[in-house]
Amino acid sequence: MTAIDPAALPADPTAPAPLALPEQGWLEWVSARGDGGLDRARALVDELRAHPPAATLDVLARWDAVQTAMADAGSVGSLFSEVHPDAAVRERAETVVQRVQRLETDLGLDPDLYAVFAALDPEGLGDDASRLLERTLRDFRRSGVDRDESTRDRLRELNERAIVLSQEFSKNMREDVRSIRVRPEQLAGMPQDWVDAHPMGDDGLVTVTTDYPDVVPFRTFAHDAEARRELVTQFLTIAWPANDTVLQQLLAVRREIATLLGYASWADYDAEVKMIGTGEAIGDFVDRITDLSTDSAQRDKQVLLDRLRRDRPEATDIDGADATYFAELVRKEQLAVDAQRVRTYFDFERVRQGLLDVTGRLFGLEWHRVTDAPSWHHDVATYDVHADGERIGRIHLDLHPRDGKYKHAAQFDLVPGLAGRQLAEGVLVCNFNRGLLEHDEVVTLFHEFGHLVHHVLAGRGRWVRFSGVATEWDFVEAPSQMLEEWAWDEAVLATFARNADGETIPPELVRAMRAADDFGKGYDARTQMFYAALSYDLHVNPTDDVTARLRELMARYSVFPYVEGTHMHCHFGHLDGYSSAYYTYMWSLVIAKDMFSAFDADDLFAPEVAARYRDRVLAPGGRRDAADLVHDFLGRDYTFDAYAAWLAR
Ligand SMILES: [Zn+2]
Repeated sequence: MTAIDPAALPADPTAPAPLALPEQGWLEWVSARGDGGLDRARALVDELRAHPPAATLDVLARWDAVQTAMADAGSVGSLFSEVHPDAAVRERAETVVQRVQRLETDLGLDPDLYAVFAALDPEGLGDDASRLLERTLRDFRRSGVDRDESTRDRLRELNERAIVLSQEFSKNMREDVRSIRVRPEQLAGMPQDWVDAHPMGDDGLVTVTTDYPDVVPFRTFAHDAEARRELVTQFLTIAWPANDTVLQQLLAVRREIATLLGYASWADYDAEVKMIGTGEAIGDFVDRITDLSTDSAQRDKQVLLDRLRRDRPEATDIDGADATYFAELVRKEQLAVDAQRVRTYFDFERVRQGLLDVTGRLFGLEWHRVTDAPSWHHDVATYDVHADGERIGRIHLDLHPRDGKYKHAAQFDLVPGLAGRQLAEGVLVCNFNRGLLEHDEVVTLFHEFGHLVHHVLAGRGRWVRFSGVATEWDFVEAPSQMLEEWAWDEAVLATFARNADGETIPPELVRAMRAADDFGKGYDARTQMFYAALSYDLHVNPTDDVTARLRELMARYSVFPYVEGTHMHCHFGHLDGYSSAYYTYMWSLVIAKDMFSAFDADDLFAPEVAARYRDRVLAPGGRRDAADLVHDFLGRDYTFDAYAAWLAR
């Protein structure tokens, strides 16, 4: 046998190349990839409908080609409508997104196309393909394609109405900016740079608005209790009464959709495709978390109340107008963590490299910086992802703010990965400054990177339906919430958190940061369960008086009493986005805590468990139910124990 030099081997001809981004001509490129892809998808569907192949697997392969073209177009549309520096490109990308949505609705309600799938023989398909067929038929059924024509027309009407109502709900929240007028001395406690940015008007008063950059620091730092209450009340009244009406209409539309499709409630319809399975299980979950968090919630609430009584001895309870302020005081006075000192250990460049080193070591990946490929902005850092010497994906880190760019932190797909066909590509979009980061931002970076790694590792399957973060929606946050733990670990932070003098972050500082972060987690969980109960209940039990229902649920689930005269449901955007499923974030957290318990707390890099997690939870993407993936990793069903232990800590 002759020894073969691996470096001399020709590159694997089946290994897909990265997407070639343009040097210029972005408008044309977005059109070609977006509109061109959609035209191709429509042509493929026409062909499939007119001349369906005889073999089931061939039909599924054609359908996969349709879905791949749509996913490729949709990814480019969603990403570049949010990040491209050129407004014209953003607008073009936005129209691609709208076209994708329209095509999805059209296909979902196309009875001739459905007939092709309904006629297929499911025998002998094998696991993945039979799951794909079953999921495809379910998608069609859930859109109402098997109903009579007048029902389908009504469903189309209702779906369009729901989109309009959603937009109205958001617009009312966005446009109803309220404010209070305070005397300069009522700004006591506010940071100096904030005070400087809020000069006095001609009448000697200062305007404080309900926008986040005002309301968040004001409810946290302003000493004046009355002014705080006034602003918080305004904040919790945004979009009232306009959105009370819009919400009622939106709930009615969802109710009618669920009824037409044969479900007892919208919550049942929505939960069918999630881990939780039924609406009723949402109610049970909310009650269970409420029970588990009660001791911790009462313990920390008592600390707040004791601190409030030092200022106001007659106080018998503490509500949302005071809680944030006194929580901050408790953290400062009793859990002393100096945020100014903390950030000196988190220089942006060092954190970014640290994140790559930590995750590379954990998941057995190498990141190779790519400097010769075009990109949409010079801030973007591109890396090829290698595993076992093979390129398995490409990532793009777009981490600094600029005009017209998406304002939050999120992972976007650029290309869904498919074995031998397309290389998985994902993008992290964040808004960090270039100097020192807050520790919160480091945690966010790890969180979002959890989604990115999931997207890449699950990008080597046969079917686009299961590529990337394609698991049930209530599991999606679990891998990213778990990865946050690495940003709180002394030993992990010691690998990259160093100040300008090269000193490593002291372990006792990390412990103090964790203690401060832990404070209030029980009452936060109770507040979250109040939101989850509201989101669930409104979709199950119709009411004419949402404010009254809100008060009832708040009394039952939150440990903080209702603030008189407020209507927070009118500006609770998640009632629109999550509908009945606001519970999902906490659901994912319970599973994240359990999965994390399988790691060795003294050595978060222990290779065996990390490899098992990578291969059994992340790499399969949507090929199996999330509960099975977790079972496969843990060797048992997941439980609430680790979550309960964390709450009790
Ligand atoms: Zn997330």
